[in-house]
Amino acid sequence: MARGVVPRQPARTGRQDKVSVARAPSRTKTSQKKTAGGLKNALPGSKAKQASKSAKPSKGYNPIAPERVTEILKRLNDLYPDVTCALTHTSAWELLVATILSAQSTDVNVNRVTPEIFKKYPTVQDFAALTPEQLEPDVRSTGFFRNKSKSVVGAAKKIVSEFGGIVPDDIEKLLTLPGVARKTANVVLGTWFKKAEGVVVDTHVHRISRRLELTKESDPQKIEQDLIKILPRERWILFSHQVIWHGRKICFARKPKCAECALENICHAGDKTWSTVEMHKNAKA
Ligand code: SF4
Repeated sequence: MARGVVPRQPARTGRQDKVSVARAPSRTKTSQKKTAGGLKNALPGSKAKQASKSAKPSKGYNPIAPERVTEILKRLNDLYPDVTCALTHTSAWELLVATILSAQSTDVNVNRVTPEIFKKYPTVQDFAALTPEQLEPDVRSTGFFRNKSKSVVGAAKKIVSEFGGIVPDDIEKLLTLPGVARKTANVVLGTWFKKAEGVVVDTHVHRISRRLELTKESDPQKIEQDLIKILPRERWILFSHQVIWHGRKICFARKPKCAECALENICHAGDKTWSTVEMHKNAKA
């Protein structure tokens, strides 16, 4: 980094985020006790690097305390008030196809491919009349194209034969479609039908929920169950959209931009790149 160039740092008091933080802990045992966990662990920026070695959470710290979860949700709301799914679509069927194609691919890549496919095959019946092999060249660039073609054509056939050509707005029915697991079902239900039946856990939600200590799990279904327990139902849909955007803009898998993150002084992730608070060694992606 060029001399004289310093990364933007949060105020020592956390007042930019309207959060009260305690004074920096000294090295004495007594003061370490006083600065246990949560919002009370801020350190002066200049001492942050050496003071933020990974540690076990302080005694009494509860990462899923309602007030902490509320603060996280508030900050996400301030950061991303109007976000929604980035996959281009004009119907539940198009969103279903786009979500199936987005596995192991980027939304940008999928959005490049889907307008052409929907021009070529405008209805679910058009897809149902295909063989997977016929669709493969059209979805090749999204990766795993053989499986994805099989899933899309299989889902179309089932929607036409069993659901009258209409994508069901019921999670149990959606889960019977080939290639549709909870993540895809929750995307379609939440984004298109505005039904909060669960929480979308994609790679960003997976990573950031662990970093923020909202879960210790690594299995997406278990992460979803943990999030369902601590998030108010009316936030299930928006939370995922906001966290996905945060993962794309700031909280990258590698080298998250912690010095620019509005959640910094309440995030104790063990793999932070910069910290004013105690880092917890097990809280990482
Ligand atoms: S402080 Fe860093 S690790 Fe924590 S949420 Fe922000 S970017 Fe992610």
